[in-house]
Amino acid sequence: MAASLASLSFDFGPTLLAWMERHAAATYGAVLAADRAGVAAHAGHGNAIAMPYHHTILPLSSRRDKETEVRWGIADFRRRFGREPEGMWLPETAVDDETLDVLAAEGIRFTILAPHQVERVPAGGRPGGHRTAAGRRIALFLYDGPLSHDVAFGPLVRDPAAWIERLTAREGGNGGGGGGGSVDVPEVLAIATDGETFGHHHREGAVTLARVLDALRKRGDVRVDNFAAFLARHPPQDDVRLVAPSAWSCPHGVERWRSDCGCRVHGDRATHQRWRAPLRNALDWLAAELHRVFEREGSTIFAADPWTVRDVYGSVLGAPDDAVTRFIGERLRRPDDRSALARAGELLELERHALRMFTSCGWFFDDIAGLESLIVLRSAARAIELAGTDAARLEAGLLERLALAPSNDPAVGTGRELYVKGIKAVPARGVPT
Ligand SMILES: [Zn+2]
Repeated sequence: MAASLASLSFDFGPTLLAWMERHAAATYGAVLAADRAGVAAHAGHGNAIAMPYHHTILPLSSRRDKETEVRWGIADFRRRFGREPEGMWLPETAVDDETLDVLAAEGIRFTILAPHQVERVPAGGRPGGHRTAAGRRIALFLYDGPLSHDVAFGPLVRDPAAWIERLTAREGGNGGGGGGGSVDVPEVLAIATDGETFGHHHREGAVTLARVLDALRKRGDVRVDNFAAFLARHPPQDDVRLVAPSAWSCPHGVERWRSDCGCRVHGDRATHQRWRAPLRNALDWLAAELHRVFEREGSTIFAADPWTVRDVYGSVLGAPDDAVTRFIGERLRRPDDRSALARAGELLELERHALRMFTSCGWFFDDIAGLESLIVLRSAARAIELAGTDAARLEAGLLERLALAPSNDPAVGTGRELYVKGIKAVPARGVPT
C-alpha cells in the first residue's frame, strides 16, 4: 500500500500518524517517503494532504474550534512532512462556508468533496472555485461518485482490468459534456475512498490498486496526477455553488452526527438513533463549560490570550515532554511559578480533550453503547478530571443530560449508565492519553 501512496493523493489523521510513529516505524517512514516521491515527480507538489487534528464534523463546531483544529492539523503536517500543506481533507467531507473560509484563511488551497456537495460539478470533472462569504477563495475537487462507490464496495477493488476499463473508457461519457472555456484544460477523474478499503475491507485491494496504477503509468493517453500538481497547472475556471452543510456519508446534511436521521450502518436492523441528539447536546454543554474554565484560569496563568496559546499548542503536540514543558514555560505570566506550569499543562490538555470528544465516530454508528461513543465519553471524563474545582458540578451536569440518550439495548439503559459503568467504574488504564 505504501508503494501506491507514491502515486496518489493521500491523507492520514494526525492521531493515527502519532501512533504509527511509535508502533509502526517502517510504515510511517514509507508514508513520509511517498510524499517526497510526489514532490519529486510533480514539480514540488507532494502527495500528502493535511487534515484537521481530530476527526471532527467541522460544520458543527464554532469558528474558534474550527480554527484550532485546522491550525493544529497544519502544524502536525508541517512537523511530519517538512513542508506546508496545499490541500486539506475534511473528516466525512463535512463542509460549510465557514469551514472553507477557515481553510482558505490558513493558506489551504483545495479540498475534495462528493459530487452532491455542489449544485453542479464542472464539466469534465474539473475543479470548481468557491468564494466564501468573507471573500476568500478555495478550489474544490469533486470525486466521481459511482466509480468511487464501486471501488470502495466492490467489484472493482477485486478486478484491476475492470477498474482500468471504467477509468479509461469514458470519452463521450460522463466527463465529456460541454465545458465552454475549458477546452484547454484536461479532464479530471478522481476516486475518493477510505484507506482501509485496501487491505482491511478487501484483503487483496492493495495489490489491485498497485496493478491499476502501474498499468495507467504505462499508457500514453492518461496522466496519473495528484490534486496539488493539477491545481498548480490549471486553476479553477468556473465557480461552483456549495450545498451546505453536507457530508459524504449522510444525505441529510450533517444530521448523522446530531440526530436520528435514519442513516446507520445496519439498515436491516430496526434500531433508533434517538441517542444522537442528547449526546451532542450533552457534549456541547460540557464543552462550553470547559471553555469557561480554560478562559478563566488561563487568563491569569498565561501571558497571552489563552485562545492564542491553545492554537500554538498544536506545534508541540506529540513532541517530547521537555519540549512541551519548555513551550508552556515560555508562555506563563510568571515563568518561575512551578504550580502555574503544572496547571497550564493541565488546562491545555483539558482543551485537547474538549476538542477530541467531538470525534465523529461517536455519532456515526448505530448505538450509543458502541465502542466509538464510549471513546468520546472517555475524552469527556478526562477533560472533567482536569477541570479542577468545577469537576463535580460538570460531571453531574453531564450525567443529567446523558440520561436523555437511550441505548437500543435495555440492559445498557442510557448514556448515563454507560458513563457510570463503562467509564467511571473502569480503572484509569481506559483513559486515552
Ligand atoms: Zn443522514
